[in-house]
Amino acid sequence: MRIISIQLKKFIMSFAALGLSSPLLRIVDEEGYAAPYPIQLEAIPAVLSGKDVMAVAQTGTGKTASFTLPLLQTLSGGQKAKANSIRVLVLVPTRELAVQVADSVATYGKYLPVKSVAVFGGVKINPQMMKLRGGVDLLVATPGRLLDLYCQNAVRFSQLEVLVLDEADRMLGLGFISDIRKIVALLPKVRQNLLFSATCSNEIRMLVDELLISPVQIGDGLHHMMAPCVQQLIFEVDKNKKRALLSHLVCSNGWEQVLVFVNTKQNANWLAQQLIGDGISAVAIHGNKSQGARTRALADFKANNIRVLVATDIVARGIDISELPRVINFELPNVSENYIHRIGRTGRAGLEGEAISLVSADEVKLLSDIENLIRQTLVRKTEVGFVPTHHIPLTQLSDRPKKPKKPKKPKKLKQVI
Ligand code: AMP
Repeated sequence: MRIISIQLKKFIMSFAALGLSSPLLRIVDEEGYAAPYPIQLEAIPAVLSGKDVMAVAQTGTGKTASFTLPLLQTLSGGQKAKANSIRVLVLVPTRELAVQVADSVATYGKYLPVKSVAVFGGVKINPQMMKLRGGVDLLVATPGRLLDLYCQNAVRFSQLEVLVLDEADRMLGLGFISDIRKIVALLPKVRQNLLFSATCSNEIRMLVDELLISPVQIGDGLHHMMAPCVQQLIFEVDKNKKRALLSHLVCSNGWEQVLVFVNTKQNANWLAQQLIGDGISAVAIHGNKSQGARTRALADFKANNIRVLVATDIVARGIDISELPRVINFELPNVSENYIHRIGRTGRAGLEGEAISLVSADEVKLLSDIENLIRQTLVRKTEVGFVPTHHIPLTQLSDRPKKPKKPKKPKKLKQVI
């Protein structure tokens, strides 16, 4: 009896019970996914049912599979895409995310006759136009490039069935709202809409009200935003000792694959140079770097050819490096919400991760904002030889949770996307 009930429980919590077809069950099995993640348990049946869905979920929670698996199933039926037409549109904020989503679609769709393509700015448009010619079942696109393609008659929306906004909060943060509105105005009125966002700000709520019809709501705030297995701590240190402390921590602990966040491109370049001077292989990655340089840096980092990747917030989202053990905030982010996006790069797919912040006395206000946002005070440590002379006052959580601030618009949008 007990064995039957264990097996029943296993089935209820399985991908098969969610209604996925055998080619998809085969691939999740091959990918080694033992059971659906919580967001998948909720989102997959909702997407399959054709309802609109709004999910608060960060990368690392399994959200990509939560919409690509059921959409692939939808696409494997129905009429194939006609010339220059698309059936599912996934809008994403950055080219890195476009590539990652397209990779996931290619992986999960391995046993299905579904054609998918990713289009994004910063590379030639002609090859993308060619790929669209024969029609595409699922198109992953950044908003600006999609509008360019539309203006050149390379893409038609009359056959569109589903619109997905991935990392919608990031798209709003990058100032894409008017592009999104322009695109939505071109789409058929009757369609399914899915919106994924790491946060649930008022702006996101307004977008949901504008675009979605009676959506199934999944996830409810910070609990779903944070990757589950991240150990967070801060090192108290004087500002002018941060660089030396970072080199010391990396070397003395033998850390590999360290993703370090700074607040500006200048600091990213400077810090990478300093680390190299200390004998640590490092590369800076930020919005001013060419697409080629960014892709190379990421590939080198993934292949363990460079030890430290110094990044700005613009690239924080969408960097999917499996088993990334450690993220370091060299500076605390000015927008506390970005702390969550940054530390979401580690502790992914249920693996343990460590998020370390080097905090100096001038950052106490930022620290307190972050702690109030995540509703916990962070464990503090000092390192021998780096004990700060400038005391960092103790922080306390306020009675009311802090609302996330609206991120500022970056100035040179076109360069970044
Ligand atoms: P995402 O949140 O989509 O960025 O997914 C994060 C990582 O989780 C990816 O590397 C996926 O391969 C992995 N993943 C997604 N779903 C599962 C699952 N059910 N079991 C194990 N790993 C998963």
